[in-house]
Amino acid sequence: MDSLPLLADHPYASFLDQVEKPARYAGGEVGSVVKDWASVEARVCLAFPDVYDIGMSHLGFKILYKLLNDDPRTLAERCYTPWVDMEAQLVKRGLPLVSLESARPLRDFDVVGFSLQFELTYSNILTMLHLGGVPLRAADRGEDDPIVIAGGPTATHPEPIAPFLDAIVIGDGEEKATEVALAWARLKREGVPRRERLVAIARLGAVYVPSLYATRLDPDTGFEVVDRPLASGIPFPIERALVDLNKYPFPDQSPTGGPEAIFDRMSIEIARGCTEGCRFCQAGMIYRPVRERDPEQIVDTVMRAVQRSGQDEVSLTALSTADVSCISPLIKKVTERLTAERISLGVSSLRAYGLEPDLLDELKRVRATGLTFAPEAGSQRMRDVVNKNVTEEQLLETAERVFSRGWGKMKLYFMIGLPTETDEDVRGIVETGARAAGAGRKAAGKGKPVDVTVSVSTHVPKPHTPFQWAAMDTLGEVGRKQRLLKDTVRPYRAVTLKTHEAHASVLEGIFARGDRPLADVLERAWRHGARFDSWEDKLDLAVWEEAFTHVGVDREKYLGTLPVTARLPWDHIDVGLEEGFLAKEYRKALQSRLSPPCGKVAGMFVHHTNLDDAKADARRLVCYDCGVACDMTQMREERLTFLDRLGAHRRSLPVLTDAGAAPPAAAPGPSGAAASDGGAEPASDGGAERESVAATEPKSGDGSEPSRAEAEAPHRARRIAPAPKGRGGFRYRFRFEKAGPMALLGHLDVVRELPRVLRRVGAPMTYTAGFHPKPDMTFSPALSLGVISLDEYVDLRLERDLDPAALDALVAAMSAASPRGLVFSGAVKLGPEDPALSKLIAGARYALAFARSAIGGDAEALLAARCSAALSAESLPIRREIDRLAKMVDVRQYLVRAEVGGPEVHAALARAGLVGDLVALEVEVDIRGSGAVKSSEVAAVITGEPGEAPGAITPPPHRAVRLQLFGRTSPAGSVAGERFSLFDLERARRVKSAPERTPALPLAADAE
Ligand code: SF4
Repeated sequence: MDSLPLLADHPYASFLDQVEKPARYAGGEVGSVVKDWASVEARVCLAFPDVYDIGMSHLGFKILYKLLNDDPRTLAERCYTPWVDMEAQLVKRGLPLVSLESARPLRDFDVVGFSLQFELTYSNILTMLHLGGVPLRAADRGEDDPIVIAGGPTATHPEPIAPFLDAIVIGDGEEKATEVALAWARLKREGVPRRERLVAIARLGAVYVPSLYATRLDPDTGFEVVDRPLASGIPFPIERALVDLNKYPFPDQSPTGGPEAIFDRMSIEIARGCTEGCRFCQAGMIYRPVRERDPEQIVDTVMRAVQRSGQDEVSLTALSTADVSCISPLIKKVTERLTAERISLGVSSLRAYGLEPDLLDELKRVRATGLTFAPEAGSQRMRDVVNKNVTEEQLLETAERVFSRGWGKMKLYFMIGLPTETDEDVRGIVETGARAAGAGRKAAGKGKPVDVTVSVSTHVPKPHTPFQWAAMDTLGEVGRKQRLLKDTVRPYRAVTLKTHEAHASVLEGIFARGDRPLADVLERAWRHGARFDSWEDKLDLAVWEEAFTHVGVDREKYLGTLPVTARLPWDHIDVGLEEGFLAKEYRKALQSRLSPPCGKVAGMFVHHTNLDDAKADARRLVCYDCGVACDMTQMREERLTFLDRLGAHRRSLPVLTDAGAAPPAAAPGPSGAAASDGGAEPASDGGAERESVAATEPKSGDGSEPSRAEAEAPHRARRIAPAPKGRGGFRYRFRFEKAGPMALLGHLDVVRELPRVLRRVGAPMTYTAGFHPKPDMTFSPALSLGVISLDEYVDLRLERDLDPAALDALVAAMSAASPRGLVFSGAVKLGPEDPALSKLIAGARYALAFARSAIGGDAEALLAARCSAALSAESLPIRREIDRLAKMVDVRQYLVRAEVGGPEVHAALARAGLVGDLVALEVEVDIRGSGAVKSSEVAAVITGEPGEAPGAITPPPHRAVRLQLFGRTSPAGSVAGERFSLFDLERARRVKSAPERTPALPLAADAE
């Protein structure tokens, strides 16, 4: 049965807390943008075909969200695939899938734009269209339906999904997203028929409209290939869009918060494209040429992003971060700034060789995470085949450098199923891992932990790569090679082997090189239950087997070797590569011949790390004339400029000292956050100028209102008093309320959010000691999911000594910088003698609100009688289950008071957002060091049917609100004592000396 709605105006309000991680659907995160629909020309729903936790980390989504929302003519909202439990609820209730920001169905938008990252998300696209009220097939859409577009890497070989899409953007989406949205909305307003609108969209260029092209069967392969355009003036082949990245600075703000994202950090794209030319890598081919972002812009973006999001980890990402020309000085610059902020830096796709030793020391100093490396193959011969320009010596050097600096783990990625692979190559994967572990053990020293994880996936030949013609290993062959790996790894204790489920890779392989007839297979599989196919535990092979058989598609034709001369289902998409380049690379691969990295000096694996060396080296840069026509002179000059801007002039980089790190007082705050808007304008100002701007007052650089997070924080300007000795910092107790979407967040998510709020307002916390310092804070007892609270507390330490006025200002700023539903309502400073929350909290008052109709009859009288009965009972047993372990709890031991709630309680319910014809109970319970009861358990024993078994008692649908947490002047369990506020420090100090007080309070999830 449904509960009372938590989000009064949301279509899912009444059942949100019946699904896993309900906050996935509630929105209200910091950085989310809700624009007025009437104020814009075009409304775009950015649809991600996977669950929220995955989609929230996606960089392309963040870029488009900011671009479209920064433009006064457009708005963007988000929608992720509902998890299977939510889909079941929507189907059962006949409700549509809605966006997070304005809770509107997908069908209401002008544009629904999908991100195509991976073939195994296709079934989720159908789920989202269906639930969003949009006809599945483009051919079935009417005049008023939105245009369904898609972009992303998989959009370069879109045929299996093409019949479900109206248009597909090829290449970089920064310019096209706005252009397509505005053009479509304008033509629609002008009454232009749908087909003509589609023709106009196709004529914009870099947009493939599948319905406007004829297909034919290729006699060589049996593939259905795209043959010719059916309208005049539309491109054939369709060339990709390519943007100057520095015209589109990476966004410094995007929605943050909600349930923990899979990569819960602020990832910043530092380059697009790659110089390495790995022959299996589609991204390395379709994003050519390599385009590096201005490093000054990156540093600015990082610092603004940290302040705006409050996250404690930043990641610099690129296809191969190690091959970004100025990566060494850039990491150095970023770590200098982040160290002062206690922000950890992750650098993806790194390798330790080629990085200066002091730079690795810097990375270690900011607790760098994510030291993973991708040798890809286990023998030199195989690495030459795939064109992975890494030698065994370099790998071992990497291991030495990593383990000698105190990292205890290292992860290596490999693939099996590569062309020409032998069993020796397969065994070489494990042996390489073992040698890395051996080198690491020597470097780490005696007794130090050394663990090398060898993660092995299956190669899937991808379109637009030199391996696009290569056969994929059969399931049987993959299984045999995986067994070989397992046998080989047995003697090596320091190596952990991880292999991947092969059925999913084979399905991916079919859809990667698939043609249009696969759309029928996809639709059939989806109709029979295919969902989240990239999730190992969700992939239902039987459904796919049946669909292939029913439609009559032969899977083998997509998995075997393809003739190099054949026309392929993706040949109408022009990603910029010369005809013949891929074939030449394929031939070289079969002969185990390397193509050293392009865009680098011949023979160099890494770029020069300083201007002197870079200038002195006049050698030619390598180029294979792949077709994208790089301007090598410009490339060389740009790199010199970047090194110059980073101050990397001489060979030996200055070693960072503590004195060189920015003091906390100078940390970028709201003023710095707004100093450079990071909007659509190219950045042209110099670094010194930025520094000086960052010290001025806040301004709204993008023309919009300052966000809540940017609200002025007066405490920021105060001088920092020296922290006292001992644990350091100054102790404070904060009170806050948690309602709406925040009541749908788990306790750990709330715990993660608080340091972010403090970082956003520039109030640095102190950290615990130890190898992994954590913010020093203690929360009041955890609440169950869905319980609202008007009286929560946290004790924490800040670096600053704040007087009462500054503390009040901080409280206001924190509320302004919090996600929807989190409101701070007060703070007091604690002295060293003030007891901790855990020693003080003795009880809680709750309001339990029921819909009058759920109780029936004279509800107040009925509940009053139940309260009397409960209070006069000797015991009120109930069965509690946690992680499948059950225990009996006697609620009566904790229940102090229960009565029908009066006007004060109803006023509190209204404040908590609960409205309607409600009847409420007010209950008081003890909280002891030895345990506590949940509000739902109290509701159950009072309102459950008398005589019911303790395990079967269920209360009528209700909503609990924690009204108050308090201390008591007498021992716990005694009603004789007086309750006192946790802000009443005088009485709290007296309690501390009471011998009866329980010493500690467990803050576990069952301690509500
Ligand atoms: S044009 Fe030359 S340098 Fe540029 S990406 Fe192609 S091969 Fe590399």
